[in-house]
Amino acid sequence: MFEDSLYFILGSIIGSFLNVIIYRLPRNLSIISPRSFCPKCDEMIPFYRNIPILSFIFQLGKCNHCSGKISIHYPIIEIISAVALLVTVILFSYPEAVLFYWMFVHLFVLSVIDQKWMKIPISLLISMTLGLMGYHLIWTVDLMVPISGLIVGIGFIVFVVGLNWLIFHKQTMGWGDLILVVILGAWLGTIQIFLTIFLASILALVAFLLFSIINGFNRAKYLPFIPYLSISAILIYLFYPL
Ligand SMILES: [Zn+2]
Repeated sequence: MFEDSLYFILGSIIGSFLNVIIYRLPRNLSIISPRSFCPKCDEMIPFYRNIPILSFIFQLGKCNHCSGKISIHYPIIEIISAVALLVTVILFSYPEAVLFYWMFVHLFVLSVIDQKWMKIPISLLISMTLGLMGYHLIWTVDLMVPISGLIVGIGFIVFVVGLNWLIFHKQTMGWGDLILVVILGAWLGTIQIFLTIFLASILALVAFLLFSIINGFNRAKYLPFIPYLSISAILIYLFYPL
């Protein structure tokens, strides 16, 4: 129980850092300096007012300096990160837990940024890849799974780009989405990456139909694919392990 609370606190601190990344990366701001500031009044937030989840509750969701409303997204992201770390250490043992949480936080941040900004910071794809490579260099004896998954991922890119070129004579799927498919292929394995793409396409289609029913059909509307790809990858990893 004591250990669980420590993981929850650690997860919420990581979530607080993810908030910084989600706010600053798409705006091309440094994620290291300056220290946390209020997005409304630019006032620096001292560390004792920057406690994950709790500060939001104690300050009733308002900035202590300008009384500007703080988005509910901040504590939600901290809570999701905390619960996810707790679930990770319950489901997986070391070192698999480290890799799973590493992949989770990257997919989480990529999904939120893609949903809001419709862009995919390349630095996140790089750090995701480096973590995956580091894991295999240190802990894996059998490299067949990541390498064959990687090949299937690359095959998928060639297929999609080729098909798009044949039909539309241009590239319609985002490069960020395609690169993420390759990274996920190396993480999940061959059959799993096929299932992930399949599931993600179904989820995206259902979401698109639902949005169309609610908001009216809009052909030009961009549908971010990363959230569906991420949810599918996590589900396939959990329910269809290697
Ligand atoms: Zn403020």
